[in-house]
Amino acid sequence: MRVVLVGPPGAGKGTQARVLQSTFGIPQISTGDLLREAVREGTPLGKQARIYMDKGELVPDSLVTSLLAERMEKADCEKGFLLDGFPRTIVQADAIDAELGRRHQQLDAVISIVVTRQELVERLSGRWVCRSCQAMYHERFTPSKRSGVCDACSGELYQRSDDTAETVNARLEVYERSTAPLLSYYRDRTLLYDIDGMGAPEAIAQRISMTLKSLSPHTAA
Ligand code: AMP
Repeated sequence: MRVVLVGPPGAGKGTQARVLQSTFGIPQISTGDLLREAVREGTPLGKQARIYMDKGELVPDSLVTSLLAERMEKADCEKGFLLDGFPRTIVQADAIDAELGRRHQQLDAVISIVVTRQELVERLSGRWVCRSCQAMYHERFTPSKRSGVCDACSGELYQRSDDTAETVNARLEVYERSTAPLLSYYRDRTLLYDIDGMGAPEAIAQRISMTLKSLSPHTAA
């Protein structure tokens, strides 16, 4: 099953993708995580990407697309994947179609996670992420048991440098301008499923799972 999760920053794409990957036995691919790894390793691509990421802007399509194509070559993607944070532009949507077309594959569903703007800002401003396993916490809604320590793997929690109030607003604007047009693009292709992204993460995961399980049996893992 090949699924795209789309939604503004803070909608819960990463949290949901992590739950769904164990439900459906397919990997989560987050272009944000791949880019942060490249930045951490100081690769040439990472150095270029950082300039855009720090400002809350999109990294150029060609850089992200090549990173994704490389990740999709790995054996764990054979049965499918959950794309988290890709595509973010129509150019990227065309690129993923071309990449899948080369393999005689196609997307099965695009899940749009719908959350109010006020909720997004609140979620992002209190977000803490595990350096080791990328698990996410929120200082008010879902705090870790021990401050600064991941419940799942005891890794160190940190706040992303692009979760500051100024960068959050820039990222939300970029979403409206560049990524929101993807919704009608996929709706026209009857691939889009709107999911209410408000409420407890478990309830949202349940809504998405039910939607994916209701797709034709040959697509469900
Ligand atoms: P995320 O972790 O998905 O919120 O992404 C963090 C940042 O990485 C974004 O604000 C962008 O700067 C960059 N990024 C991640 N995915 C993409 C993408 N598909 N296209 C362009 N930039 C991306």
